[in-house]
Amino acid sequence: MKPKETMSNIPPDTDIDDWMDDHLASSAETPMRADAFEMDDDTKKKLIAEHFKAIMEIMGLDLTDDSLSGTPRRVAKMYVEEVFSGLNPKNKPKARLFENKFGYDQMLVEKDITFYSHCEHHFVPIYGKAHVAYISSGEVIGLSKINRIVQYFAKRPQVQERLTVQIAAELKSVLKSEHVGVVIDANHMCVSSRGVGDTNSKTGTAHFSGKFLEEKYKNEFLNYINSPGSNL
Ligand SMILES: [Zn+2]
Repeated sequence: MKPKETMSNIPPDTDIDDWMDDHLASSAETPMRADAFEMDDDTKKKLIAEHFKAIMEIMGLDLTDDSLSGTPRRVAKMYVEEVFSGLNPKNKPKARLFENKFGYDQMLVEKDITFYSHCEHHFVPIYGKAHVAYISSGEVIGLSKINRIVQYFAKRPQVQERLTVQIAAELKSVLKSEHVGVVIDANHMCVSSRGVGDTNSKTGTAHFSGKFLEEKYKNEFLNYINSPGSNL
């Protein structure tokens, strides 16, 4: 693990305790073991497959059945290469900045970024839309990079609050701008498909910093998110 990989990007004046008040996340940083990347991906996949096979067998499933025999290997591959690939810093998108040649100093919004993540408490999907806004510090980032940053942090066992903070912290670091807003609307399968079985509720989280703490900018951002089909 790269220690403090995400925390170091959060400015010292961010009150994480305040932010996490009433939420279950223990930290803005994904809790990782110190030896998280000493094991290579192939070994991880082999071991996860063995353990997942054991779980299926304990549940009484017959792993000699053609339909089930490949499942442990498929799950292991999916965990390491896809849905949890954002745990590994080697997969972090490298963001290139471009000079803001047009002198565009207004708000830039990318809304409706679809993401799929997993609840770290139940390991079932959290999915939804992320909306991101920033005001350039003189350099801009490719829009696809914003999307990739969202996907990178989504591909971890997550809680929605931490996902929001991690995306905001990375954007601030990459853009060299304090003026960042992140809003996430998500569905939690652990709420809709089990437990209370509430299929309609959505969870919203937000992180605003810099100028986005001012009503004017915050409202402009939120109005844009809530206006269907609008263009800035
Ligand atoms: Zn859950």
